Order: sequence, then structure tokens, then C-alpha cells
Amino acid sequence: MTLQQKVQAQFQAAFGAAPAFIVRAPGRVNLIGEHTDYNDGFVMPLAIARATYIALRPRADGIVKAISLDMRQRRAFALDALQPPTAPAWSDYLGGVAWALQERGYVLKGWDGVISGDVPIGSGLSSSAALELAAARAFYCVSNFEWAAVPMALACQAAENEWLGVNCGIMDQLISAAGIEDRALLIDCRSLELQAVPLPAGTVVVILDTNTRRGLVDSKYNERRQQCEAAARHFGAAALRDVDAGAFAARAQELDPITRARARHVISENARVLNARAAMLANDAETLGKLMIASHISLRDDFEVSSPALDAIVDCANDDPNCFGARMTGAGFGGCAVALVRAAAADSFAERLRACYRSASGHEAAIAITRASRGAETVFP
Ligand code: ADP
Ligand code: MG
Repeated sequence: MTLQQKVQAQFQAAFGAAPAFIVRAPGRVNLIGEHTDYNDGFVMPLAIARATYIALRPRADGIVKAISLDMRQRRAFALDALQPPTAPAWSDYLGGVAWALQERGYVLKGWDGVISGDVPIGSGLSSSAALELAAARAFYCVSNFEWAAVPMALACQAAENEWLGVNCGIMDQLISAAGIEDRALLIDCRSLELQAVPLPAGTVVVILDTNTRRGLVDSKYNERRQQCEAAARHFGAAALRDVDAGAFAARAQELDPITRARARHVISENARVLNARAAMLANDAETLGKLMIASHISLRDDFEVSSPALDAIVDCANDDPNCFGARMTGAGFGGCAVALVRAAAADSFAERLRACYRSASGHEAAIAITRASRGAETVFP
């Protein structure tokens, strides 16, 4: 049974009627451009084939009644009595999206809904953005407003930042809103301009989950953000986006070694994303792979957000002749890596990687060969 069929059947069972709409919004993986989004820089994510689905019907009374099949819980809230959460639960993602949309002047109606997804939770593929964009799409279906990817993504980011208290950039929400089949998207995180970029012919994107998760990621993330802001201030720049390699080299010695290394990562990573775009437009998998390998080294040594498990899985991937390049992806300290692999050899790559990573780390990898999918959409009717 597909996820769409599952939420449809469970909606029928829970509410005794067929849903009026079914919506989906995908998770994402970032090909290159890590920790650049909050520096007003460039990222290159793709929406993945895994997504969160909501089957729903409108309500006339301004109430949202939602069932999460994955959490096995039912929750209800009134759109005119939203309370900021002290300890956020899954339903606060729905409430947060409602709050952010209403703050922006959207007039919302309520709904009954059944939710389920196959984006793994907390592994760095952004199940939170998938849930937020699916919720925004649900409100769009029952209310009467225009859908546009950028304002929807901004509202969902505001929900995550201001309602849930998670300090994320715009990448996750924007790619979940605006993904395009078989394309990665170059996002300029300052202008929010998007450019669809093809993946090299004959390659697939493979997500390598280390099956390790680390605590304290939030505090380390906030510390990195502060270090980047301090470095930008030193250069008199609004953000590290505005500092190029030449300007950095001229004054890098004035920075303390840690701040210098953090800035060097961000500045070099922005350049790698633009070089990656050129390589992809030239259908050059070799160069794209080399940029991914350089990105990992920079994240490991300069930004210091990798982990032994991430290094082990990336090394296993990069040792395989059918892998053009692999790197950690997402905030780091655990979670997933991403690899660009020869499509014809993807299955044997996965098999070898599993064995290599097991003997190097003692953990089992979870491997997903994925394609680039569409962003948030209504799939029924
Ligand atoms: P991720 O890296 O997957 O985005 P987060 O911690 O940011 O991890 O978000 C995960 C949270 O999002 C979950 O704890 C839950 O509250 C919510 N969530 C995501 N997917 C679902 C789902 N299918 N059903 C209910 N809640 C979900
Ligand atoms: Mg998240």
C-alpha cells in the first residue's frame, strides 16, 4: 500500500467519510552547500522521494483535528486560540504553521486530517519541513488563498524559528515547497532566487544514514552561527556571503584560529556550490564529485561538525570506484551522508558500503537510492 492509499484508508476509518484532499510535501537532501544558508550564501538541495502525506476535509468551525499515524496520537486545536508551546510536540508544527500564516494575514479554515510520512524523523532529511509544508498545503486546500512556494516556505520557517524555537535557515522549507522532478535547486539564500540544475546523466544520489544521532547539536549549531556572525563583523560585512576568497586571505591572520577556520569553510563552500552548478550544467560528474569530497574535508577540519561515524561512511563511499564523491549532509554530528554514484552500479555500491561501514564503525547503515521529486503538492483530487 502506498502512503497515499494508507492515509486515505485511515481517514475513511477515523472520520467515516472519504477525504476531500490528499497533499504531500517531501523531505530533502543537500548535495552541496552546508552551513552556508544562515550566512546568506548558496545551497544545492533536492527534494527526495520520501514525503509526508495528509488526507483531509474542511471544517466549518475553525478547529484542526489531526491524527498522526506515525505518533499514534490525535490532537485538536482552535485557530483563534493558539498558544506557543513550552515543550513542542508534533501537533505544534501544525499550530505553528497556522500561527505564522495568520500572522501574515492569511485567513484560515480548519480541517480534519490523517498524517503519515516516510521521511525518517531526526536523521537530517527534514521531516519537520515536510510536515510544515504539508500542513501549509492542507490549509491552502480548505482556505481561499494563493499558493506560492517562497512565501509558504518563509511562513513555515517562521513557524520553526519563532513557534518551535528551532534556529534553522530557509533551505529545508524552500526545497520542500519548490522541488522539481529530476533537478537539484541552487538557492541563493539572500535573494531566495532559485535555479533548477540537472543531475549528471547516469548518476544517482544515494543517502547514507550512519544510524547515529548526537545530542547537543542545537547548542553547537548556535555556536557556529555566532562564530560566523563574528567573522562577518570583522570584515565589516553583513554576512560571510559578502566576503570572497581574496578579501578573506588578505585579513585572515587577524582572526583567532577557530573563527578563521569557520569562516574559511563558509567562504570556500559558497565557491564550491557555484562551481558545482557549472559542473552540473556541463554534465561533469567527476568534478561535482571532487567538490563534494572537498566539502566534506572542509566540514570535518575547518567547521568541525563531522563525527567518527560520518567520516567512516564517507571514507567507505569515496573508496568505491563507482562513487564520484561523498560528503556529510545536514547540520552534522551524526545523521546522513550523501553520495553521487554511477547509476548502473548503485546496488553493488550499496552492498559494499554496508559491509565497509559495519566493519569500520560497528553500526548498520541505512541506504536510500533516491531521485529528485516535486515539492509540496495536492495529489488528490
Ligand atoms: P528532522 O531532522 O527530521 O527535521 P526535527 O527534530 O527537526 O528532525 O523534526 C522532527 C519532529 O517533526 C518530530 O519530533 C515530530 O514532532 C515532527 N514530525 C515529523 N514528521 C512527522 C510525522 N510524520 N508525524 C508527526 N510528527 C512528525
Ligand atoms: Mg528539522
